[in-house]
Amino acid sequence: MVCVMRWTPRNGDKTMHLMEVKQLGVQFQTPDGVVSAVNGINFTLNRGQTLGIVGESGSGKSQSVLAMMGLLATNGRATGEVLYQGQDLLSMPTRDLNRIRGNRVAMIFQDPMTSLNPYLTVERQMTEVLEFHKGMSRKEARAKAIQALDAVKMPEAARRIMMYPHEFSGGMRQRVMIAMSLLCEPDVLIADEPTTALDVTVQAQILILMRELQRDFGTAIVMITHDLGVVAGLCDEVMVLYGGQVMEQGSAEAIFYKASHPYTAGLLAAVPRLEGGDAPMLAIPGAPPNMAKLPAGCPFTERCVMALPQCGTVRPVLAPAAHDDQVLRACHLNIETVTQNLQRLKAELGAAA
Ligand code: SF4
Repeated sequence: MVCVMRWTPRNGDKTMHLMEVKQLGVQFQTPDGVVSAVNGINFTLNRGQTLGIVGESGSGKSQSVLAMMGLLATNGRATGEVLYQGQDLLSMPTRDLNRIRGNRVAMIFQDPMTSLNPYLTVERQMTEVLEFHKGMSRKEARAKAIQALDAVKMPEAARRIMMYPHEFSGGMRQRVMIAMSLLCEPDVLIADEPTTALDVTVQAQILILMRELQRDFGTAIVMITHDLGVVAGLCDEVMVLYGGQVMEQGSAEAIFYKASHPYTAGLLAAVPRLEGGDAPMLAIPGAPPNMAKLPAGCPFTERCVMALPQCGTVRPVLAPAAHDDQVLRACHLNIETVTQNLQRLKAELGAAA
């Protein structure tokens, strides 16, 4: 059993942004021309805070965090600023970025097999990180690695550390990834759909584990997910992306209890709820957008059941919502109209059932 110090905020932490992302954009050079996968996202992150970035496949959520980590494909280019403690990761030389990446800012990927080396034991992969970033001896690094595996509740860590990645189950591999990402006690942990490939019981265990680790180390988390249940259980702030653009952004409470954007409201209405009784579930019609063929206006136009004639041509500006200036939203409709439309749609669906 590992004993970890409980994290407590330092003086001044309340006002210091650990990370500040300004106007982050991602473009890809393709045979059909330049495709904009992410268009100007902004957020701040403080110690111990969790931001959920939510959206369907192709919404730009994974490309946003890959850009933040300097891990875009070779045909991709990031613009804007990603400030970690005031230093811009996007303009930093690779040598300096490598000192921060995996050390102060770490990432957990959806599929651990794509980021774990199948030819090296877990021990070698974990000790390498500590030797590189912390200058530890192999012996010190091994002890620290076993401690990290204990912290993620890996049974028989001292024995299992000698195993290869393929010898672990999916859930155990994900624990190895989390342990690896936490080896250097990072300030920021970026988790890209970390539980998607796992069954629901293991999913719940991993999320509880992340919450505990955040509580103990004060790590800030950026959680990329399409699962609103994950957001509800873990996040303080939420950013909803569609077609590479922010549709709505604010506290998890505001977004969950007073979603004011047709896309967010549609996502929430499509979630099955135990307490929902016979309440009809609304599905968002259509499929995620083709990023190469987005309309000039709102990217959600083609699927939006509330779209106005101008939606396809006039892009709505992301601006503070009239009902809550802590919420940003990009929609031509006001919240009252969105709520009325939703109620009408549910009533029609209920009558037709
Ligand atoms: Fe729907 Fe128009 Fe609002 Fe976009 S701007 S979400 S298309 S109503």
